[in-house]
Amino acid sequence: MSGIRLEPGDLSEWLDDLRCSILDEPPNTAKELELIRRKIAKKHKLKMPPGDAQLFSILDDDLKLKIGKFLRRKPTRTLSGVAPVAIMTSPYGCPHGTCTYCPGGPEFGTAQSYTGHEPAARRAARHGFEASAQVLDRLGQYSAIGHDASKIDLIIMGGTFTGRDLEYREAFIKGAFDAANGNISKTLPLSLKSNENASNRIIGLTIETRPDQCSSIAIDWMLENGTTRVELGIQSLDDEILKQVHRGHSVSSGFRAGKRCRDAGLKLNLHMMPGLPGSTSKKDYEMLIELMHNEKWRPDMLKIYPCLVVKGAQLVQKWQNGEFKAMDNETAINLIADVMCKAPPWLRIQRIQRDIPSHEIIAGVTAGNLRQLATRLIEKEGRRSGCIRDREIGRVKTKPDESEFRTVIRKYSAAEGEELFISQEAPLYHENEEDFEGFLGGVPLTNEIHNWSSSDPAGGVISGFLRMRKPSKDIWREEITENTVIIREVKIFGTAVGVGEQSGKESTQHKGLGSYLMKIAEKTAKEHWGANQILVTAGIGVREWYNTLGYKRIGPWMGKSL
Ligand code: SF4
Repeated sequence: MSGIRLEPGDLSEWLDDLRCSILDEPPNTAKELELIRRKIAKKHKLKMPPGDAQLFSILDDDLKLKIGKFLRRKPTRTLSGVAPVAIMTSPYGCPHGTCTYCPGGPEFGTAQSYTGHEPAARRAARHGFEASAQVLDRLGQYSAIGHDASKIDLIIMGGTFTGRDLEYREAFIKGAFDAANGNISKTLPLSLKSNENASNRIIGLTIETRPDQCSSIAIDWMLENGTTRVELGIQSLDDEILKQVHRGHSVSSGFRAGKRCRDAGLKLNLHMMPGLPGSTSKKDYEMLIELMHNEKWRPDMLKIYPCLVVKGAQLVQKWQNGEFKAMDNETAINLIADVMCKAPPWLRIQRIQRDIPSHEIIAGVTAGNLRQLATRLIEKEGRRSGCIRDREIGRVKTKPDESEFRTVIRKYSAAEGEELFISQEAPLYHENEEDFEGFLGGVPLTNEIHNWSSSDPAGGVISGFLRMRKPSKDIWREEITENTVIIREVKIFGTAVGVGEQSGKESTQHKGLGSYLMKIAEKTAKEHWGANQILVTAGIGVREWYNTLGYKRIGPWMGKSL
């Protein structure tokens, strides 16, 4: 692993300083923002601070919403065509106790694991942690900066949502859906139903939870209420480390929870925390490689949050006693870069590092833009990231011609089931990838396969994909027979499948790609797996679109016979 140094005046320090200044004293006018920007630029000896467009492009969503109205830009849609709306639950401890690195919680008046200074936490506190007010606030912000928020990706954050009592959970979800619908329904099922035709449709619902609070009963409840993705804190693949930080669950319970989510058709985003007490750089790297490549795991998405010593967490004591040394910037940048370059073709590394203001961090990674620094290192060394996020058509600099895209089907096993990843990509085979069982690029994986080539920057660029699973034999739902397969995700970049296709607003290049991938999936499910029924986990706001493809409600899914 090679190194990178942060130069004086590096944009990361500048940005981090700017972020903290804005969070501490939000500017009320464009002039106030300009004063903050100049002050910080002077402090970091920048000859020229970035212009408005550049500043906007490096801000995270929360800061965009906060200061975007002061920057001179044309109205635009969100890059993925979907407006993320993150809302936070009220302060409440986790059922197992508190992990040693975890800040916040009821005694601090914040949701567990948030310091209260994060933009989403501040917004939640401002609205008394009430779901509907948080959603309305966010929608108002999108509207103020000209973002189209007709397709909402709703994310419920804070503590362990599925560990809360049923009454709280249902009232919280109802509040969010009522706000999107623009009216108050009598019951939660009516509110969900009403969203199928609302102008602000919730096309995805993400719930964060822990392995021990992700039973089949919890998953049934999540499915009933429109959940499409589960974020599961795994944190480490070493039971000793989990014990040391009081995680309250084992590695194998993480495996079983992930398998249940996938079998039920949910997208799975696993969270890992390198740099925990008891780990080493080598071990962190090996665990992340194992998680990405071992057929036990192979998640759809991954969040990597290096362990920080944050004010208020139990870990502070250990750090003060000299019993714990936190990961530094350089180690984190190298680790993240290596992981990005080893990403298998179906993995999206969703997020790297927590959104905790640097003044709350006592020790650990302080660089505000870890991903950007890792990307810079990868480019400098002539390597290439395989993460889907870095190959999305809307994000890459070198865009292949539309005629170059073709359909690739990759087959792999994961969590005791079989998966097909059907994608529309510009041609790039990994050196030792070849046709397998009639699928393009369907070769079985080894750790060494995925060395992405930087010599063909347009190769591997992806415009859309579909994830389909043949569940494991342990599936508990009677709707899912042994001849049933389940589509867990359909994603078209530059727009969202469903609502956008109906309105015909998306670019010509992607028009109809969602329906095309669905047709390929149906044909392949029948021919390859002998399936006679296909189900789709559809966000509530996308159900209508699946209706147009001949799908009807089957339990919490949309489905049809083949
Ligand atoms: S499970 Fe998550 S929120 Fe709960 S204490 Fe542990 S880290 Fe914090």
